[in-house]
Amino acid sequence: MKRVGFYTLGCKVNQYDTESMINLFTEAGYKVVDFQEEADVYIINTCTVTHQGARKSRQITRRAKRRNPESIVAVVGCYPQVSPDEVLEVSGVDLIVGTEGRKEIVELIEQARLAKEPLNFVQNVMETEEFEEIPITESKERTRASLKIEDGCDRFCAYCIIPYTRGTVRSRDLSEAVAEAERLAQNGFEEIVLTGIHLGAYGEEKGEATDLISLIKELIRIPDLERIRLSSIEATEVSQELIDLIADEKKLCRHLHLPLQSGSNKVLKAMNRDYTTEEFAAKITQIREQIPEIAVTTDVMVGFPGETEEDFNTTYGFIKELGFSDLHVFKYSKREGTPAAKFDEQVHSRVKKKRSAKLRELGERMAEEYRDKFIGKGLDVMIEEERDHRTGLLTGLTDNYLKVMVDAGDSYQGELVSVKLVDTEDNYLIGSIEE
Ligand code: SF4
Repeated sequence: MKRVGFYTLGCKVNQYDTESMINLFTEAGYKVVDFQEEADVYIINTCTVTHQGARKSRQITRRAKRRNPESIVAVVGCYPQVSPDEVLEVSGVDLIVGTEGRKEIVELIEQARLAKEPLNFVQNVMETEEFEEIPITESKERTRASLKIEDGCDRFCAYCIIPYTRGTVRSRDLSEAVAEAERLAQNGFEEIVLTGIHLGAYGEEKGEATDLISLIKELIRIPDLERIRLSSIEATEVSQELIDLIADEKKLCRHLHLPLQSGSNKVLKAMNRDYTTEEFAAKITQIREQIPEIAVTTDVMVGFPGETEEDFNTTYGFIKELGFSDLHVFKYSKREGTPAAKFDEQVHSRVKKKRSAKLRELGERMAEEYRDKFIGKGLDVMIEEERDHRTGLLTGLTDNYLKVMVDAGDSYQGELVSVKLVDTEDNYLIGSIEE
């Protein structure tokens, strides 16, 4: 039996794309092995959102070929999509495929096996208009599965390479998305995470019958599905209807990840983000008025070109004032081909590091404050299949994205149970199961 090993860098969409390729190889009779093992085929699903992503992709590729010089090594995804020539020069590469065409990956591997030169199957993604349908039935995680419903983005934020690597918005057919959710639910996945590059744009190119609200309403009807979570959505795309749905439908998680990026209007404008801090704050207030316990998490970028100390302090103050239940802090990374790469006033890496550390520390404090609010309360927890290796306790997630540990028997694994929260330890709430 032929063996294939996968290595995935980058975002949730990339993770999903890997799972869909795993499905194709499994159907073709391959055995999926750990990437560290000797395999006949290695697939490196790359990311190029940061410089580190591209460098790591090159390292991993060389390492794979060294492990088995006879293997076929394919580099797929965002990195070959934007820099095919650069990737073809990496030693050990036999095949490159971009962010489209993964559906043919198994056949392409066979072609690469017969070829004398590395093969280039990167397509012009800017001309692609259809969502590439590659279903999955399994997921690496055992209680939660991602459901990819959209690819591409038309926003062109000044720092972001994604519209060039992933192309324009393509939405999955609503019926295909629902069918996949049904299959996943039948296979025991109780929670699905709706995933896409620009989730809020779902259906915009398809006309009225396909939109995020219609899809969520269909998913809620699936009997075996306990939870639906949104991965990340722009604050400007959170409609009153979506807020009402989250407030009223128990299956839809009270968790919104709304990327802020900067708390300075000057920086937001330079980033080509289409909201002001006032609009962002007003949206969060609107959401919290209706759903007080909701978890609002965010992304923030430090060191965007031209971000002064004053701009950073404005961002820091804005975030502190508004409060988030978790903060993902990124340092701006120059990506060739984006407008911001040409901007003057690039911020020194030392400054970025200092700003990022300061915001991370704030993020940890805010997460703790949010967590502490739930001590003494009862919440439903989706218990994971595996125990925490350090403590041996069961772990799980609440709908509002709190990590919980409980001391209980194996029969609760994979179940949604009611837990009384009594204490905190590290990043966890400690609780006991309410019978
Ligand atoms: S919305 Fe902006 S940051 Fe997000 S993928 Fe699109 S261009 Fe990139």
